[in-house]
Amino acid sequence: MPPSKGYAALNATSPLAPYGFTRREPGATEIVVEILYCGVCHSDLHMARNEWGQSIYPLVPGHEIVGRVTALGSAVKKFKLGETAAIGVIIDSCRHCAPCNRGEEHFCDEGATLTYAAKDRVDGSITMGGYSNNYVVDERFAHTVPANLSPAAVAPLLCAGITTYSPLRHWNVGPGKKVGIIGLGGLGHMGLKFAHSFGAHAVQLTTSLKKKEDALKLGADEVILSTDPAAMKAHAGTFDFILDTASAPHALEPYLALLKQDGTLTMVGLPEKPPTVAPFALIGKRLSVAGSMIGGMEETQQMLDYCGHHNITSEVEVIPIQKINEAFERMLKQDVKYRFVIDMSSLK
Ligand code: NAP
Ligand code: ZN
Ligand code: ZN
Repeated sequence: MPPSKGYAALNATSPLAPYGFTRREPGATEIVVEILYCGVCHSDLHMARNEWGQSIYPLVPGHEIVGRVTALGSAVKKFKLGETAAIGVIIDSCRHCAPCNRGEEHFCDEGATLTYAAKDRVDGSITMGGYSNNYVVDERFAHTVPANLSPAAVAPLLCAGITTYSPLRHWNVGPGKKVGIIGLGGLGHMGLKFAHSFGAHAVQLTTSLKKKEDALKLGADEVILSTDPAAMKAHAGTFDFILDTASAPHALEPYLALLKQDGTLTMVGLPEKPPTVAPFALIGKRLSVAGSMIGGMEETQQMLDYCGHHNITSEVEVIPIQKINEAFERMLKQDVKYRFVIDMSSLK
């Protein structure tokens, strides 16, 4: 492979800056994808700044990738040259354990390989993400993209989309259910769109009242300012399910008080400082606090096809890669409508 170009963090405090590296040649079942767009996930920021203590530098973030297939291994069946392909948060797994055989590669017993800052199973190199001009991936870990959807607005589906679609499906969100989404950011706005599309009574919980009109347009039946105790009290004990996408530390108790008996709050947000839960907030109504992580390859393709049928994409602000550090700062200020997507032609 010719040298690749990207943007990398060199340590936990340095801004992202141009970085050159090489990717290995594609194997028989692998494809080379020229990256057109890459979404900016809050996980990219947590990882660039080593907030979870697992970062490896230089770190090229990016796991919401849409691009064009520019080379194919000899045994590739799923793609043809020039087709659009999408890559998400994982790019490999053991491929033989029970979860992998069920198409739940994200739960691989041996640990799935992440798109960046992970050890590549093929050559032991450290994976470099999608804030770059190309990617090499096995066709099993790449997805086809419905032709009717805009590639830039599809990119966030590869993480924000599947991370919200999967738990809403798993906990049977649909007609007759009152469902809350905590946080109107990249994940939250996709969760809101899916909850609405699945026929639930969708309620946006937000700390930013200025997002109210947008939430209503995106599919919310109601919007609650979560910092207003009276507004929260008015909804006490009425929710079946809550999806928590908040990226910053927050107390769970005010949200748990919204659930009905046997209700569930599922966390997908991963704040640097994990929340604590008072058992008294759970026992009185036999509540559950759960967690969910992205989704497997099969469900990711189902989600993309669902989005194609229902014309669902992300609300995006397309930026050149030179604006990535500014985008990170705006994300920290909850100033994203509702996902930054990098136009990778700006790398040239
Ligand atoms: P984002 O676009 O920055 O959105 C996060 C939203 O959280 C904000 O817009 C804000 O919404 C809300 N928020 C921030 N601080 C809050 C607080 N103190 N209390 C309540 N709400 C608060 O981030 P994202 O890309 O959606 O990612 C969200 C989180 O999910 C991150 O921690 C990320 O690492 C994690 N994540 C997990 C998975 C997984 O597989 N589980 C996958 C991807 C991302 P309002 O302004 O509406 O309050
Ligand atoms: Zn992500
Ligand atoms: Zn496995």
